[in-house]
Amino acid sequence: MKKEHSLSKRLFTVLMVFSLLFSLAIGIIITVASFSTYEKAAAQSLSTEATDIANSLQGKTAEDRLSQLQDLPTGLVRITYVGEDGTVLYDSEVGASELGNHSNRAEIQDARRDGEAVVERQSETMHEDSLYAAVALDDGSVIRASEERRSLASFIGEMAPTIALVTVIVVVVAYILARVLSRRIVKPMNSVDLAHPSGESPYSEIQPLMDRIEQQRKELVKSNDELRRAANLRREFTANVSHEMKSPLQVIGGYAELMSNGMVSEEDVPKFANLILTEAESMRLLVDDVLTLSHLDEHSRVGDDSPDVDLYDVAASAVSRLDSKAGDRNLYISGVHDDAVVKGNAQLLEQMVYNLVDNAVRYTNPDGRIRVRLGRDGDYAVLSVDDDGVGIPEEYRERVFERFFRVDESRSRETGGTGLGLAIVKHSAEDHGGTVVAEESEWGGASLVVRIPLAESAR
Ligand code: ADP
Repeated sequence: MKKEHSLSKRLFTVLMVFSLLFSLAIGIIITVASFSTYEKAAAQSLSTEATDIANSLQGKTAEDRLSQLQDLPTGLVRITYVGEDGTVLYDSEVGASELGNHSNRAEIQDARRDGEAVVERQSETMHEDSLYAAVALDDGSVIRASEERRSLASFIGEMAPTIALVTVIVVVVAYILARVLSRRIVKPMNSVDLAHPSGESPYSEIQPLMDRIEQQRKELVKSNDELRRAANLRREFTANVSHEMKSPLQVIGGYAELMSNGMVSEEDVPKFANLILTEAESMRLLVDDVLTLSHLDEHSRVGDDSPDVDLYDVAASAVSRLDSKAGDRNLYISGVHDDAVVKGNAQLLEQMVYNLVDNAVRYTNPDGRIRVRLGRDGDYAVLSVDDDGVGIPEEYRERVFERFFRVDESRSRETGGTGLGLAIVKHSAEDHGGTVVAEESEWGGASLVVRIPLAESAR
């Protein structure tokens, strides 16, 4: 199944993770900062208290000291008085005799050495620590003030409800923000006019997407146009073919009817049969050309993997097939290169030359001249068929390659033209990667010039 990506889900996750991390970081910073402030203040006040008491005891006798200590108001702070030998002389919370020798306690040793000391010890319960501030008196005895102080763990524990509340708020806010934001982000995208996405895009980030949509839309429009044009051409072609078929069929039908009705005299029968044959032949030629063209329409271009074809062989073969039809005309091949080899379809190429020479024969006088020339021009083989016939007027030199276009309708029909010969030549030349143009020959007739890229090996 395709995984659905939801923008609001993603935003929710990102916002939530970000806010949680953010509030966690802030929480840690605040906790640590306030804990250390609290810690410092507690140590400071304890040490001040110890110093004050020590100052007030300084220079007094042992009894005075004890009675003064006993008179101190009992508060949160525990006061211990340790003699110079380490015995506890007074403690504000526990009987002094219950406490052992204190001379190995860190705060006592430190105070004796440095005058005063502050030491912290962790209690077993973990929730509270003990803080000791000790000050040495001039006779080596020590006054110690101590206090239970909250540990970091209990500090954090106290924050737990607040943390939970903040978490809930973060989740709710992230959820609402994600919904609102995703809706706001998506709304302008949905209002984009996809038919004309080239206009303003709501975000620069999606401009590439819009460009791609626009490009694809253009391509679609283009290929749609091409399809429509191709369909039109096909429709037009079919209509033309049916039209071209109609007249020989009518002629054949008409003559056959006359003959079957006995309206043709015995001696005229061969003449009528001949007329029918001629029309049948012109229909056969038309069908052949139509089949060739539709074959060309359906099959893709000639490629590099096509076989080598020597254009000279092809031309020679086409010319020899037309030799008898050429009659007295002076038909010859000249300027032959033995390596005018191209990649392609020999049969198609021969049909191409055949059509060109056939046209030359049909549009020249019986004593005319026809020359098939084969040469090279750079990477191209150039094949031209020149004649000294009627020629093609300049304004029709492009249109003669259109299907069923004829300059002189009656001459074309009289000589058995289908109107498709040059269309086949053009199609075939283009399928071989080449071109064909109609020009005027040096004798004033027509010159049809085909250029086809030479095979790599022949260059
Ligand atoms: P068609 O079967 O009518 O000859 P083509 O497609 O071969 O059809 O040629 C199209 C038209 O071009 C012809 O009808 C003719 O008018 C003109 N044409 C072609 N070849 C020649 C040529 N060698 N000399 C004069 N006109 C030509």
